[in-house]
Amino acid sequence: MNCNRKCRNGYCCQFLVLHIPKETDKIWLLYHKIKILGKSDEIEDHIKIRIDIPCKHLNKYGLCKIYDRRPKVCVDAECPL
Ligand code: SF4
Ligand code: SF4
Repeated sequence: MNCNRKCRNGYCCQFLVLHIPKETDKIWLLYHKIKILGKSDEIEDHIKIRIDIPCKHLNKYGLCKIYDRRPKVCVDAECPL
C-alpha cells in the first residue's frame, strides 16, 4: 500500500467492511453497534456492514507500531481514500 498519510489517523487500520446477505437480522447488527453502510455494489442481494475494530498495533498518532513486520494483508491493501 502507498500511504500518503492523507487521513492522519490510520483510518484503514480501524475497521473491517463485510458483505452479508440482505435478509440478515438488522436488529442483531444494531445491538452489536455494527454500522450498516447500504447495498453492496459488488455482491447481489448483499449489504455492506462496517465493524469498528481498531488494530492493537496502531499508535496514538495513527501510525503502525510494527510497520516493518506488518501482515501481508496490510501490505497488499489499497488506500480507501
Ligand atoms: S493508507 Fe490508510 S493510513 Fe494511509 S492515508 Fe490511506 S487510509 Fe490513511
Ligand atoms: S498491523 Fe499495522 S498496518 Fe496492519 S492494521 Fe495494524 S496498524 Fe494497520
